[in-house]
Amino acid sequence: SAKQSGRNRYGFFTADLQARTARALQIENALRRALERQQFELHYQPQVSLGTGQVVGAEALLRWHHPELGVVAPAEFIPVAENSGQIVALGEWVLHTAARDAKRWLDMQLPLRAVSVNLSAVQFRHPQLPEMVTRCLQQAGLPARRLELELTEGAAVDDPVAALAMMDQLHDRGVRLSMDDFGTGYSSLSCLKRFQIYKLKIDQSFVRDLDDDANDRAIVSAIIRMAQALGMQTTAEGVETDGQLQFLRAQGCDEGQGYLFSRPLPADAFEAYLRAMK
Ligand code: C2E
Ligand code: MG
Ligand code: MG
Ligand code: MG
Repeated sequence: SAKQSGRNRYGFFTADLQARTARALQIENALRRALERQQFELHYQPQVSLGTGQVVGAEALLRWHHPELGVVAPAEFIPVAENSGQIVALGEWVLHTAARDAKRWLDMQLPLRAVSVNLSAVQFRHPQLPEMVTRCLQQAGLPARRLELELTEGAAVDDPVAALAMMDQLHDRGVRLSMDDFGTGYSSLSCLKRFQIYKLKIDQSFVRDLDDDANDRAIVSAIIRMAQALGMQTTAEGVETDGQLQFLRAQGCDEGQGYLFSRPLPADAFEAYLRAMK
């Protein structure tokens, strides 16, 4: 009966929810200790100029290796860290580490223009964010223009006025801002034109099927042309094939990031990659 299946469905969801909640609690508890136990590491993925083929930047991507849970993906632990507030301390560690690594590579004259760091919407709403950014840059000795902060559209939807003020503050400190996963969120184009955004990162969901989906080709070329008209740079995410690369280059996309160029690499491997590019 409907009643029966309804109950079963309810029971199913409850069990599923409990399992997910248990896992989230386990992760939350383990996260509490993870920073002091030095279980985090940053990997770096090159960002390549499609015009020259040169490495122009690197995105820092957080990796967590827990002795029992194994490697936990950011997609799983970042939301937990956001809900528990731990993202603020974790985000500071990421920024501090990325700034220090970038400064070391620049001092070695390695070909790197900037390092990109992902910012959670929770960090973005934190009033002390601009001070935290400046503190990390000063501690590392890294000039602000060498740092790029990646925001998602979600960071700006709740309160566009506050978001605008925060972007202005970060921009005034000389940091570049990019809009990550562009096209998947809810930001309106009227907001976009007022934001101090330097670069749009075209979400990989539009890039994935470029080789055989005419709609994705239309969307990607429209994003690139809009960015150009607004004076913004573009980076395509998730570039995996030569066909995607050819299309993006022909459309005038500035940069690409993806497995075609390199997977995200541990710091020492990324350093070796930069040396080979020199
Ligand atoms: P994102 O910022 O959009 O990062 C790009 C993601 O795409 C990374 O996943 C990267 O490994 C993956 N990727 C790169 N090239 C390719 C490709 O060619 N094909 C495919 N299929 N994937 C590719 P990752 O490292 O698992 O990170 C997932 C998300 O977690 C990031 O998406 C970002 O939103 C978040 N994240 C990662 N590190 C941090 C961090 O330090 N702080 C915050 N707040 N979020 C982070
Ligand atoms: Mg990103
Ligand atoms: Mg992205
Ligand atoms: Mg993403």
